[in-house]
Amino acid sequence: MYKWLYLDPYAEITFNHPKKRCLIFNTLDSKKYLFEGKEYEMIKRIFENDYSIKITDNELKTNKLLINRIENNFFGGVYSSDEKPLILYPIINIQRNLRKFKTISSRDQGTDILENLLELSIHFKDNNCILRIDRVIQLIRDAENSSLKKINIYIDSYFTHKTEIEELLSFLKTVRIKTYIEINVKDYYSFINNLPDIKSNEVFAIQVIIVDFDFNEKVVEEKNVSLKFRISNEEEYNFFTNKVSESTDYSFEVDFTKVNHSFLCENLFLNEEDIQDIKLTKQNYDANKTLNRNLFGKLVVKNNAVFSSENNSKAIATLDNEINLKQIIFDSLCKSNDWFLIRKNVKPCKSCLYKNICPPITENEILLKKYNLCTVLN
Ligand code: SF4
Repeated sequence: MYKWLYLDPYAEITFNHPKKRCLIFNTLDSKKYLFEGKEYEMIKRIFENDYSIKITDNELKTNKLLINRIENNFFGGVYSSDEKPLILYPIINIQRNLRKFKTISSRDQGTDILENLLELSIHFKDNNCILRIDRVIQLIRDAENSSLKKINIYIDSYFTHKTEIEELLSFLKTVRIKTYIEINVKDYYSFINNLPDIKSNEVFAIQVIIVDFDFNEKVVEEKNVSLKFRISNEEEYNFFTNKVSESTDYSFEVDFTKVNHSFLCENLFLNEEDIQDIKLTKQNYDANKTLNRNLFGKLVVKNNAVFSSENNSKAIATLDNEINLKQIIFDSLCKSNDWFLIRKNVKPCKSCLYKNICPPITENEILLKKYNLCTVLN
């Protein structure tokens, strides 16, 4: 009879080999355990041998602390048997079609490629580019059999795009996909006076964006809308906090194009304690190894073109041509990297033990071209 030191299959391991460190993440309770030096060597051996190794009585003694830690926290232990234990490490299929789509060269995959479309954002920008709204509506019609559950409409300039916005909203009332409208406070009252039923229609949720100190404060008492204050420093945070009442539905959004480094560090950077508190299911942990849960399935329409993320400057399609939604999704899956932009592929996160635990990369990190908004590797 041999003794085997094993780890349970729900113990996920990440390594930093140059630093001889590793992290075990218990996907049952989201607890995290760091190992260094000799303990790292032992975990590495277990990992490389299908989660179990034969262990001598002498090794049992010299690794007592490590074994106690494993057994007391229920992610492995010592097992006596003639045969090596069979540890079945589960592989979860995150998106059943992904691998298939990555290896084919044509888009003609029936309707199932449409399952990968989850969210659509449409920008009415403060410029003279008038959206081909017939093509946008066609795109949404073509998404009928997709997984599209959320539409975001960003209105930077209501009067420039009034006709197109009204045509789109009128169409969306019939489609009944939850639609989130963001409009700047300067245009809000004109918008709502022209389209009063939008506010009471449950398909729509309106968020009013406030950037400047000089804004119409009447909006703070407005019912059935939420406010979003866009801030870049503490002074703005304090100013707007003093303007709201208890009944105001509001939130803050950091303007990453203006924010300074010290404000970012103090208020937004993740530290090790924050990461220790992160709870993650096995499915989301596996998803973090494969795709970007923030960006996957989102398409962005702006300036008469379609993009696979907000900050990608390379369009997947243009609204000047006939729209082919399956081709757009196919290209987002296979030609653009946005939906698969994960920490294990970017510096410095790729060498960090927390790369599969940290929240997925955000649009703001892409905008800043900085992926370590944290105090861990900085
Ligand atoms: S370096 Fe990247 S993966 Fe590591 S803690 Fe910071 S953000 Fe997370």
